[in-house]
Amino acid sequence: MITITPYGAAGEVTGSAYLVETGSSTILVDFGMFQGDKDDDARNVIPGRIHRMDIDAVVLTHAHLDHCGRLPLLVREGYRGPIFTTPAARDLAEIILLDAAHIMESDFERRRRRSEQRGRKLNRYDQPLYDTDDVTQTLDLMEETEYNAPTRVTKDCSVIFHDAGHMLGSATVELRIEEDNGNERIVVFSGDLGPPNFPYLRDPEPPSKADVLVLESTYGDRDHKSLDDTLEEFERILIEAVDANGKVFIPAFAIGRAQQMMFHLAELIRKQRIPSLPIFLDSPMAIKAVNVYRMHRDLFDAESTKLSEHGQMDHDLRSLVLCTTAQESKQINEATGPFIVIAGSGMCTAGRIMHHLRNNLEDQRSHFIIAGYQARGSLGRRLVDGASEVMIHGERRFVKAKIHTLGGFSAHAGQTDLVGWYAKVAANGTPLTFLTHGEQEARTALKDKLSELYNVNAYLPAYSEHLVL
Ligand SMILES: [Zn+2]
Repeated sequence: MITITPYGAAGEVTGSAYLVETGSSTILVDFGMFQGDKDDDARNVIPGRIHRMDIDAVVLTHAHLDHCGRLPLLVREGYRGPIFTTPAARDLAEIILLDAAHIMESDFERRRRRSEQRGRKLNRYDQPLYDTDDVTQTLDLMEETEYNAPTRVTKDCSVIFHDAGHMLGSATVELRIEEDNGNERIVVFSGDLGPPNFPYLRDPEPPSKADVLVLESTYGDRDHKSLDDTLEEFERILIEAVDANGKVFIPAFAIGRAQQMMFHLAELIRKQRIPSLPIFLDSPMAIKAVNVYRMHRDLFDAESTKLSEHGQMDHDLRSLVLCTTAQESKQINEATGPFIVIAGSGMCTAGRIMHHLRNNLEDQRSHFIIAGYQARGSLGRRLVDGASEVMIHGERRFVKAKIHTLGGFSAHAGQTDLVGWYAKVAANGTPLTFLTHGEQEARTALKDKLSELYNVNAYLPAYSEHLVL
């Protein structure tokens, strides 16, 4: 008997974690953090059942924090088994997990000092979930596994990673589980799936068969605005800014989004749609990620391979300025436009974008291009929603700069892409299908779509529900 129990991303998009129990082993697929909700601290724990089961192996689909963010917690509690993931996912997880630990450590330090001043005691949730040492230990356990190379995970289970096209090193996980009766069952976790034609990445390569499928449904209810339309709008904004000697700021998540924006800027410069104006990559984390991209060029799609092999990309981005130190970042304030700044965080909640907002939000010639998802409550969301004034680090700023929201840059497959991916997996027999990693409306819409097109009755599991296969 095989069971799967989701411990996150069931009717929501964060906290991905699946406990897979076979006849003789226990495997955890992803162990991600819950993000974006005030109750997250209470949920970012190791569920009792995972505690009680001796986990034999972990399989990680990709490096986003909502997929790997609870792993150091597991290691802190004594896990010493292998964590199978692709080499690029390991390298990006190193940047992401160390950053997460660093933020938690400094938050804790700040709270500790404040409590000391007020003579108060810290409560349990004020403690950092884990620290840098836990992350280092977690990284040491990672076993780098190439795509399409069957690898033994436990005595009755092996894994094959397929490119998921969502992030560098991202994978769809195919588990091949040998049952006591000698049969083999193929259990596939889609992981997060990318859209086709995402910069640098290859398109998702679905496995050709599954007996059981756990499919993401982030955008199960809609398709994105087309990339072509989005790029046209992007170009228009840049030209307007250049003509007026304006400044363009792009709040961007350091890994994936920042490189994607650089790719599109390189293309516009190459095609001479915009001049080669200064582009400040104002994010130490994004700069580190650029180096990981360079190390894993073998994963690029054909177009990016060609562009990077012949040095074309470096030539296109000859005006790129890497800002590693805080001093270098501050110097941007002295520069005159036109120029472009890519800085974190993507939702304007922290990081260097904050000082650019403070200094430029009241400047009518400045442009802020919001290219990613903005969670409710974030400053980015308030700007997108048209706030006329906002507070930044306790200072009031009137929003006079132009705020643009570009909707077509998502790293997630839209509904049509998800359905197409499903069709390929189901071509050799309809799998038992579970939909996760989507808000309730999104996964319900995808369920209806799959039912309509393929007459499949997909199931929508709840948190900690035992799915007996
Ligand atoms: Zn992801």
